[in-house]
Amino acid sequence: ESATSHHQNIHYYQQGEDEAHLERLVMLDELKQAISDDDGQLFMTYQPKLNMKIQKVDKVESLIRWQRKDGSWVSPEVFIDLAEQSGLIVELTAWVVNTVIAQVAAWQQKGIHLQAAINVSAQDIAFAGFHSSLVRTLKKHKVNPALITIELTERDMIENEEKGIIALENLKAIGVKISLDDYGVGQTSLGRLKMLPIDELKLDKCFILKLDESQKDQFIVQSSITLGHQLGFSVVAEGVETVGTLALLKQMKCDHAQGYYLSRPLKAELLEQWLEEYDGVH
Ligand code: C2E
Ligand code: MG
Ligand code: MG
Ligand code: MG
Repeated sequence: ESATSHHQNIHYYQQGEDEAHLERLVMLDELKQAISDDDGQLFMTYQPKLNMKIQKVDKVESLIRWQRKDGSWVSPEVFIDLAEQSGLIVELTAWVVNTVIAQVAAWQQKGIHLQAAINVSAQDIAFAGFHSSLVRTLKKHKVNPALITIELTERDMIENEEKGIIALENLKAIGVKISLDDYGVGQTSLGRLKMLPIDELKLDKCFILKLDESQKDQFIVQSSITLGHQLGFSVVAEGVETVGTLALLKQMKCDHAQGYYLSRPLKAELLEQWLEEYDGVH
C-alpha cells in the first residue's frame, strides 16, 4: 500500500510540474503579445530618489508592471525571470528603454528635470544590439545620455565578465551612467568592485529596511557609504521605509534615498503630482 501511495505522490508531483510548465508557456505567450500590442498591459512606474544634499528629487528608478487582460497582476520578479530564460528579455528591454526615454523627453519638455534609471539584465548587456539601439533611441527623442542610468545587479555584471565590462565602458563613453544594484548581497569582492566602471552604488534594501533598529546594519551601511565615496561612487539606499532611517542615512552622508517612506513607484502622471506636493512641503 505504501508503495502505491508513494507512486501516486510522484505522479501527482509530475502532474503539478507539467501544469506549472504549461502556465509558464501560456504566460510567456501573453507576455510576447503584450510587448508587441503595447496595449497598456505593460506599463512603467517611477520611484523617486531623493538627493539628500539638496533635499530634492533629481532622479527616479523606472520599474515595470504587468496587469494581464483578466485583471491579474504578475510580479516583475516572475515575468522578468521568464523573459530572461526564454530570451524575450531583449525585446522587453527594448520596449522599456523606448518607453522610459520617451518619458524623460516628455518631462524635459515640461521643464521637469529628472534622471531616470533603467534596470537591465546580463543578456541585454551581452547583446551587441543593446548599445546601438540605446543610442538610436536617445537620438530619436533628443535625450542627453547623461540623463539615463543603467542599473545592473552584481550577478548581471559578473556574467560574461570581460565582455560585460567592455560593454559598460562603451556606455559610459557616450555619457550613460552605470549603477550597481542590490550591492552587498552578491558575490562582488572588493577587488572586483574597484575594477567595475560604475558611477553609483545601490545598497541592497536588506541592510536598509531595519536600519533604524539594527546597529549591525548601521555599521555595514556606514562603512559601505564611506567605501563607495572613496572609490568615487555616488551612493543610494533603497528600501527606506521610515523617517528614522532617512535621518540616519542623511547623517551617514548617503547621497540618495529611495523607498516607500518617500513614495511607492508611481505612474508618470501621479509622480508629477507627487513631485509638486513634495516640493511644496520642503
Ligand atoms: P530592484 O531593481 O532592486 O528594485 C527595487 C525593488 O524594491 C522594486 O520592486 C521596488 O518596488 C521595491 N521597493 C522600493 N522601495 C521599497 C521599500 O521601501 N520597501 C520594500 N520592501 N521594497 C521597496 P519591484 O518593482 O517589484 O521590482 C523587483 C525587481 O524586478 C527589481 O529589483 C528589478 O530587479 C526587476 N525589475 C523591475 N522592473 C524592471 C525592468 O523594467 N526591467 C528589468 N530587467 N528588471 C526589472
Ligand atoms: Mg534597480
Ligand atoms: Mg535594487
Ligand atoms: Mg532587486
